[in-house]
Amino acid sequence: MAQYDYDLFVIGGGSGGVRAARLSAALGKRVGIAEEYRFGGTCVIRGCVPKKLFVYASQFPEHFEDAAGYGWTVEPARFDWRTLVANKDREIARLEGLYRQGVESAGGEAFQTRAVLVDRHTILLENENRTVTAGQIMIATGGRPNPHLALPGHEHCIFSNEAFDLPELPKAIVIAGGGYIAVEFANIFHGLGVHTTLIYRGKEILGRFDMDLRRMLHETMEKKGIRIICHEIFSAIERRGDGRLDAYLQGGEVLVADQVMLALGRIPNTEDLGLQAAGVERGKIGEILVDDYSRSNVENIWAIGDVTNRVQLTPVAIHEAMCFVETAFKHNPVAPDHDCVATAVFSQPEIGTVGLSEDEAARRFHHIEVYRATFRPMRHTLSGRDEKMLMKLIVDAQTRLVLGAHILGPDAGEMAQLLGISLKAGLTKDDFDRTMAVHPTAAEELVTMYKPSYLVKNGERVG
Ligand code: NDP
Repeated sequence: MAQYDYDLFVIGGGSGGVRAARLSAALGKRVGIAEEYRFGGTCVIRGCVPKKLFVYASQFPEHFEDAAGYGWTVEPARFDWRTLVANKDREIARLEGLYRQGVESAGGEAFQTRAVLVDRHTILLENENRTVTAGQIMIATGGRPNPHLALPGHEHCIFSNEAFDLPELPKAIVIAGGGYIAVEFANIFHGLGVHTTLIYRGKEILGRFDMDLRRMLHETMEKKGIRIICHEIFSAIERRGDGRLDAYLQGGEVLVADQVMLALGRIPNTEDLGLQAAGVERGKIGEILVDDYSRSNVENIWAIGDVTNRVQLTPVAIHEAMCFVETAFKHNPVAPDHDCVATAVFSQPEIGTVGLSEDEAARRFHHIEVYRATFRPMRHTLSGRDEKMLMKLIVDAQTRLVLGAHILGPDAGEMAQLLGISLKAGLTKDDFDRTMAVHPTAAEELVTMYKPSYLVKNGERVG
């Protein structure tokens, strides 16, 4: 008889956990997986997927405006928030079913319950009031929005979770944060007709991105009508007599809004999981500390995805899950590769980026070439929309390696995926130069910027 009930038990049914469970079950392992809320996790239920659907919804007003230059007359359009939320819910429910089904049809057992560790091989399934045992345990419990408890009046604020299911669309919203979530939601709400203000503590939104993209996105968002206030934070939020909110800023201004949203980063879900009982070590913000192979300090307990606070992106969690399966069950240790991860911000216009920003490359390399183009996308010639596109390649002058590629404009995310392959493969600028353009596209600019716009030597811009 087997020593344990399962070869693998996964706690957390998000993108990473489900992938680990499904692939392990498909190998013939006895797998159980527990999810306390809904299978699909942050990405499917209250993250990437509903967000992208909302982005599409919020883009229609601009499409209607742009249509005029192409000869179309669009009658005054009306928007119904509840229809959008209901249709989004239907799609999410469909995907949730597929996630669960995927595990079960591979032979795994899915449990709808909170699960906590009792010791390094024992898991309590709370809804079932029983324990099970497993040889290997994977923790993939993800993260949640930082609640920012230090802010007086934080209890009046919403987070990205609630933003997807508001009973009604606010007339005015103030969003705090300058990262992916704050910027994406500012554009979504503005596009849906909400009076939108973004408050960011730093000097420019989207701290980890190339400065050119950050500045140009900021300008474009302001031109659309989003108010962005940098170098500012909330001092307090208060509920007014009329039910609206006063958002007090440290600089003294008071903003009135129907909703105040906090998007100030996310923290790992590791409380009350029995980690101490199992002897699993955590880091500064509660993240599970793992080695290069996603193994915790306890030999049979692993962790992947946001709960480890490495790179908080769905595809990274999935990649970590696949590496885990190789390492734990196929005698082929594979460490997840977190280098050169392409990413997109679904702002409007969109950002697609991979590799080093100009500033980061200038810090690390003695001599870099910067190829930069700004132009009006062809679509906007007839639409008349005053919006530019930006493309930028950062090249190491010595080796000719393309170190970074940065795009702001329509479909930038789609382009970033393909550029991700080029940079991962270590292609040089000469490879880009001898690639034939696809015409007429915006992306052709990436292979037709033959002369550097300027050089950066020893951190100084020249030429
Ligand atoms: P981010 O880490 O992207 O941004 C957090 C923002 O909050 C930063 O601007 C940060 O400022 C600010 N901040 C943090 N603490 C405070 C504070 N105490 N007071 C004021 N401002 C503060 O987190 P998000 O919440 O936007 O998103 C979480 C993660 O989810 C992202 O890192 C990303 O990996 C992932 N995600 C990915 C998406 C995509 O792929 N398109 C979409 C949405 C989320 P500062 O810059 O100064 O540190």
